[in-house]
Amino acid sequence: MKTVLNYINGAQVEGGGKLFDKFYPASGELLLKVSFAAEQDCDNAIAAASESFKKWAVTPPGQRAAVLRKAAQLMRERLDVLAEVEVLDTGKPLREARADDVVSAIDCLEYMSAQAATVHAQQYDLGENMAYTRHEPLGVCVGIGAWNYPIQLIAWKAAPCLAAGNSMVFKPSEMTPSNAVLFAEILSEAGLPPGVFNVVQGDGQVGRYLAEHPQVAKVSFTGSVASGLKVAASTAQMMKKTTLELGGKSPLIIFADAEIDVAVEAALCSNFSSQGENCCNGTRVFVQASIYDEFCEKVAKATKALKVGNPMDLETEIGSLISPQHRDSVCSYIESGVQQGATLLVGGGVYVVEGLEGGSFVFPTVFCDCTDEMDIVREEIFGPVMSILKFETEEEVLARANDTLFGLAAGVFTQDISRALRMTKNLEAGVCWTNTYNVVPAELPFGGYKNSGLGRENGAYALKEYTQVKSVYIQVERPSFPFKCVK
Ligand code: NDP
Repeated sequence: MKTVLNYINGAQVEGGGKLFDKFYPASGELLLKVSFAAEQDCDNAIAAASESFKKWAVTPPGQRAAVLRKAAQLMRERLDVLAEVEVLDTGKPLREARADDVVSAIDCLEYMSAQAATVHAQQYDLGENMAYTRHEPLGVCVGIGAWNYPIQLIAWKAAPCLAAGNSMVFKPSEMTPSNAVLFAEILSEAGLPPGVFNVVQGDGQVGRYLAEHPQVAKVSFTGSVASGLKVAASTAQMMKKTTLELGGKSPLIIFADAEIDVAVEAALCSNFSSQGENCCNGTRVFVQASIYDEFCEKVAKATKALKVGNPMDLETEIGSLISPQHRDSVCSYIESGVQQGATLLVGGGVYVVEGLEGGSFVFPTVFCDCTDEMDIVREEIFGPVMSILKFETEEEVLARANDTLFGLAAGVFTQDISRALRMTKNLEAGVCWTNTYNVVPAELPFGGYKNSGLGRENGAYALKEYTQVKSVYIQVERPSFPFKCVK
């Protein structure tokens, strides 16, 4: 049986921790073992990153860019392998992993390679004197990833980090350990010096050890709000820079003047992509009263037609949830929706796929007649469960959409440009889509308001988050101090 190792200082190494069993979500079969890092392995990875940082930080940005560009090219050549590994780790449909996840990672590497040489100073004229700023890399950064978009999360963290001249130690989720090592190997093959990007395997304990390590300058974390708060508490002790990409319960708002078929497709995409294990999904679907019945009917019909099945089959639209435990949690939310009075339109629980009876499939589930107080409407379920809510006016839906502790994303469907602009201005969310959903180009900063996070990934903003600003003041003429030298 294959064991997934750590990647430290340019080589795969066994960890001193336990061997963890990793199961294939779609069949429940033991897939591989994961060699967890012990504290000494984390120390080794951080020491390697710290040593390599000295040279990488002063490598000309154009050379850093060339490494990232080459890595993107190698990933493109190996897209099929990377996508299949992603499916084996996550259980998501191969067609999504190929079209979205790996491509998003490649796009980010290419975008950040183009950005690498754009980190530049500002110069200030201060009378006879002058000053300028320097955007300096931070040092050793730690990336900690969730299990839902493993390859994308690695690239979104590593690409800006390395482009800005930092080094990184990355810890994937214990559930999705594989592509981090393939990614590290690709970077090495593309010319990245040993130690600049390292992978340590492990669970939350390993993540905590890394986040608390005194030689770490920054932590970029993607995961749940609960773990994000713990990471923030750790990093605050040493005033480390921290980026947090956390959960969501995003509103998708459909006005009566929207193109209804497009809105139905968006609702499906924003609830069932990655079988609902997507942080920005629009799980609170607000529909204006006059089109509510028609919308519910169309969504129900389209949902029933979705193909749930073997993730490796390119026809499959809905794959397996990550684990039986997570499937049970999603199913208990579905039960709570029924108990709290929502109307179950489609789905309703566990789905058995022939030949994959040990998998963790849940048929896409749609509730209508939902109210704002229900658990399915307030809490992040992280599974294929859509809640449809009725609204009458723009003012009302805006208040209800913002009535949440989360603030990651929002979507508005309308043909009225003024209303779209008003709504997106007033929605409390880090990403607002109009007449589309779940589009995350590498150019656009991504991150949350409120409990959904701190800081931004992607775009030029992400690069700034991996630098610190130094102000350099140059005295040209003799200065006049209030204290005088006595001869
Ligand atoms: P978790 O918070 O459980 O875990 C995230 C990562 O943090 C894992 O690698 C985990 O290790 C590690 N970890 C857990 N505890 C700690 C700790 N105290 N210190 C440091 N690291 C720790 O999230 P999930 O993996 O369950 O992912 C699902 C969540 O992620 C959802 O809430 C989702 O919304 C959010 N998410 C947000 C995204 C965004 O960009 N905003 C994108 C994707 C997901 P391990 O799992 O190995 O124990």
